[in-house]
Amino acid sequence: MEIIRTVEWMKQVSRRERADGRLVGFVPTMGALHAGHASLVRAAQRDCSPVVVSIFVNAAQFGPGEDFSRYPRTFDADVALLESLRVDCLFAPEAAEIYPPGFSSHVEVEGISSRLEGRARPGHFRGVATVVLKLVEIVQPWRAYFGRKDAQQARIIQQLARDFHLDAEIEVCPIVREPDGLALSSRNVYLAPEDRRAATVLSRALQAVKAAVDRGERSPERLVALMRQVLAAEPRAALDYAEIVRADSFEPATALCGSCYALLAVFFGGTRLLDNLLMEEQEGAFRCAL
Ligand code: AMP
Repeated sequence: MEIIRTVEWMKQVSRRERADGRLVGFVPTMGALHAGHASLVRAAQRDCSPVVVSIFVNAAQFGPGEDFSRYPRTFDADVALLESLRVDCLFAPEAAEIYPPGFSSHVEVEGISSRLEGRARPGHFRGVATVVLKLVEIVQPWRAYFGRKDAQQARIIQQLARDFHLDAEIEVCPIVREPDGLALSSRNVYLAPEDRRAATVLSRALQAVKAAVDRGERSPERLVALMRQVLAAEPRAALDYAEIVRADSFEPATALCGSCYALLAVFFGGTRLLDNLLMEEQEGAFRCAL
């Protein structure tokens, strides 16, 4: 695996691959890699060659008082995992490569960025959109792969790609979970053992929504009440939000129709966890993907 540290070098490699008619796949990450990231790599490898993974802990998407300085950094283990997956290139720039002195442009995806995660973390999506646009410009992939774990982020990046006429196709991949249902996240290492056990309440609340929808429940209010009820039974969980939203706008769903998400953000101690359930209408029935 080639480890690339500079923007110019990464651009050169990408230009050469494209000139050779190859389809570059790209998986952007912040490192502390786990099986969720590995699933994105495998999805990219099914469609593309070469596959480029980036590791860049993007300070611009962390608010003041958030966990930028203590975000887990496990570079050697990440390299070993990517080598074992036979990834072709790792792009791991220093911050000054991405944000050189004098850098002054930012991207704002309006509307959808102001709700939910955007409201809880002001400036977060501006930081995400800016770095993703930069990384996609540098790597020039045919396809870029993102996880549905961060559903609002994935939707914002699809909007960014559309609004800026990006060549890259944006692919959104399923959530990878621990055997007990907890969605994998680099931040799960922050959880104290009791909180780690309690955190299964997120997927249990979403399972309850899925079961209710399978039984024919179609009221967003009652589905939200159900999530709140499951979460209230876990004293270690402090709810930030539980919502049923439309998958296109992330506005609250007034009725369950088309594609919707059940979204959860829940604190355990100082750690904030996200999870979601995708509900897609097909001929009057709903297919729910946890
Ligand atoms: P991160 O390193 O947390 O910025 O995540 C990099 C990419 O991996 C993002 O597109 C995430 O949505 C995705 N990702 C994170 N956790 C998971 C998971 N459990 N399953 C699938 N994709 C994930």
